[in-house]
Amino acid sequence: MNCGFECPRCGHSTLEEILESVTLSSEVIEADEEECEYGRVSWDGGRIDRYQCKNCGWVVPDCKDVKTLYEWLDDEKELNNGQG
Ligand SMILES: [Zn+2]
Repeated sequence: MNCGFECPRCGHSTLEEILESVTLSSEVIEADEEECEYGRVSWDGGRIDRYQCKNCGWVVPDCKDVKTLYEWLDDEKELNNGQG
């Protein structure tokens, strides 16, 4: 299942939320000279910058919160039903 997103540009169904000003924390499992191996990741704070297609980067217009996203998805579904 996904949220019902279908990208108008490329048709992909994976939507991602892009946050800004977020504090990201990663558990460090192991460390060597060059890199760490991370465990669980969590984040704190931040605000939504945009929702976009994971495949092509198409951005949902004027959408910076989940309520607007929900309404946009709902509109799109109705649009698609009308066509089909
Ligand atoms: Zn796309």
